Amino acid sequence: MSRDLSAPEHRRLMLDSVRDYLDQLAEEGLEGLPAERSRGTSQAATKVVPRSSDVLSPTPAPRPAPAPIELLSAYPGLEKTATLTELRSFIGDCKRCKLAPLRTNLVFGVGNPDADLMFVGEAPGADEDARGEPFVGRAGQLLTDIIERGMGLRRGDVYICNVIKCRPPDNRNPEPDEVATCEPFLMRQIDLVRPRAIVALGTFAVQALLRVKTPISRLRGNWQEYRGIKLMPTFHPAYLLRSPGEKRLVWLDIQEVMKLLGVPLPARGSSR
Ligand code: SF4
Repeated sequence: MSRDLSAPEHRRLMLDSVRDYLDQLAEEGLEGLPAERSRGTSQAATKVVPRSSDVLSPTPAPRPAPAPIELLSAYPGLEKTATLTELRSFIGDCKRCKLAPLRTNLVFGVGNPDADLMFVGEAPGADEDARGEPFVGRAGQLLTDIIERGMGLRRGDVYICNVIKCRPPDNRNPEPDEVATCEPFLMRQIDLVRPRAIVALGTFAVQALLRVKTPISRLRGNWQEYRGIKLMPTFHPAYLLRSPGEKRLVWLDIQEVMKLLGVPLPARGSSR
């Protein structure tokens, strides 16, 4: 038979629950909690639901209309590519900018061609150049953790690519002429996937997509718009490897994305 708990017992139970919850977050690689609630929701720092490919769009929202064609006219026929496979064929063994002779592999993009969520990074690094796939090094593993352990999705549920498709030497930032030459491919990629939201990873991707010079530290966490699509700027996983204390901010940003997409925020005590 149950009995009413005394006040001290009640407090102890609550503290035990909080400790369990913090332990779970720590296991998930989160190194801190937000200092305050995210935009007034009490669910901001709760645990993630079990993964499921159908958690996106439980109540489908209308997708944005195809973006207006701007730079696509730079490459006649680009606007006629109807699938990502056709777009990849169109790009071919691209030699349109000075990065071409330096690459091992052109890194096009991976994931669900009909994804609701698209992650856009800066440019391939050494691991990506070697394998021909974006975000496969240590930073890539962290991004995968964000998607799978944080959001409860599978990496294959989303679409992942970079602003430019070939590795700049010594991992330097892409130069303006390289971005200008490669950008029409990204624009077409976004048109074809037509995600409901884009997460722009890091200063360069954010500034390239939004055409602003505002520091990422001021943009992150606030919804922007890229050609009719909601865009969330956040820190690049490579930066998080150097500054793990900032993971909590990315987690806040990711939760905003989850809310927009209808990915349920976790219930306390749920397990994966
Ligand atoms: S970076 Fe883009 S434009 Fe330059 S060679 Fe690679 S695919 Fe072509």
